[in-house]
Amino acid sequence: MVNALESFRVDVRDWLATNLTDDLREAARLSTSVFSERDVALKWQAILHTKGWVAPSWPAEYGGTGWSEAQRHIFACECAFAGAPGLIPMGLRMVAPVIMKYGTPEQKAWYLPRILSGADYWCQGYSEPGSGSDLASLSLKAERDGDHYVLNGSKIWTTHAHFANKMFCLVRTNRDGRPQQGITFLLLDMDTPGIEVRPIPSIADDHDFNQVFFTDVRVPISGRLGEEDQGWSVAKYLLEFERAVAHSAGLMMALAEVRRHAETLPNGEGGVLLDTPAIARKIALLSVDVAAIEASEDAVMAKVAQGFNPGPASSLLKLQGTETAQRIQELAVELTGDYAAVSQIEARKPGSNVEAVGPDVGLTAAPRYFNGRASTIYGGSNEIQRNIIAKLVLGL
Ligand SMILES: Cc1cc2nc3c(=O)[nH]c(=O)nc-3n(C[C@H](O)[C@H](O)[C@H](O)COP(=O)(O)OP(=O)(O)OC[C@H]3O[C@@H](n4cnc5c(N)ncnc54)[C@H](O)[C@@H]3O)c2cc1C
Repeated sequence: MVNALESFRVDVRDWLATNLTDDLREAARLSTSVFSERDVALKWQAILHTKGWVAPSWPAEYGGTGWSEAQRHIFACECAFAGAPGLIPMGLRMVAPVIMKYGTPEQKAWYLPRILSGADYWCQGYSEPGSGSDLASLSLKAERDGDHYVLNGSKIWTTHAHFANKMFCLVRTNRDGRPQQGITFLLLDMDTPGIEVRPIPSIADDHDFNQVFFTDVRVPISGRLGEEDQGWSVAKYLLEFERAVAHSAGLMMALAEVRRHAETLPNGEGGVLLDTPAIARKIALLSVDVAAIEASEDAVMAKVAQGFNPGPASSLLKLQGTETAQRIQELAVELTGDYAAVSQIEARKPGSNVEAVGPDVGLTAAPRYFNGRASTIYGGSNEIQRNIIAKLVLGL
């Protein structure tokens, strides 16, 4: 078995060596945003799709690889170590499992192959102004008119809505009873008349998210996923998958990179930064934490592979993965020193001939640190994850 896994690892590594192109590697090395650039992610998705490796966590009947949990872990690690870009999660990892569970046969047959191939680009319409953590208070109104819903209101922080041709969206269909009871889950086309996407520039001057306005937008009832007014269960199921991200491969890679910088950057006293006990200690502690996260992930992903949903353990993975990533990003800034304050937007563009200022790590350290702040907010803030763990795991 071990030999079979080792030969699987060699196959994956060989395939990556010939199919992961230098431009994709370079784009991933210089990427500092939460998500990969759209074109980079789609190019890599197309290559993986040709090989049949685009969705290792999907059941084989829908186009998954049919790999064991150990094979999936090996694949994720090899991709991270090879420096592959990430894929955009809204379709592949977020709405797809929900369509598999709640979709009609027609919805599955239409949407799932298009998610695999990258033909559809999805965005997530959950948050609204005033409804983030308290998501059940959402108010985007959907009224029935014949065989359509008519939508009025807005969604906010909608990542990549300016690229997306599809949105999965929570709407208010009923105001009677508890707020959770009158929510419906819709799949809609972004080119439907009445939808307007307005950019929200970030503090790092990136355009990742948007506010999306709906004025008399007509969505066919066939776009509903699950029953009317029962969308809260669908929404929560999706969030479990959004949060149950395997972080360990990326964390190992990020920590190895930081360690490499600590081993080479001078400490001003004839040695290297790793000789400084405080830095060596931080790296050692982070290594232990990353190993612990890997073990937790193995346990959760093994459960998912047996057909269970991740459950509240996904909150635990989100907490540990995002907070450890932030500590690695902080350490990278510490190693960069004063150079972290230099804005290097031009030098960071793939193929740029603008020379970098200071050490290599300085190109990405500060923007990754700033963008990394978002990870403990999106997907449900980490305070909310702690509330979930207190209630559902600890029974408090
Ligand atoms: C980079 C990024 C991308 C995003 N992309 C999307 C997207 O594509 N689609 C989408 O729908 N949304 C998206 N979001 C929105 C995200 O889901 C919300 O920001 C998040 O749910 C928090 O909601 P809020 O911003 O309204 O903050 P609030 O809910 O107002 O919370 C403010 C603060 O209060 C704390 N807090 C709130 N309630 C409690 C409580 N009960 N107990 C303890 N602390 C509490 C929170 O932890 C937070 O620190 C994105 C956010 C970010 C940062």
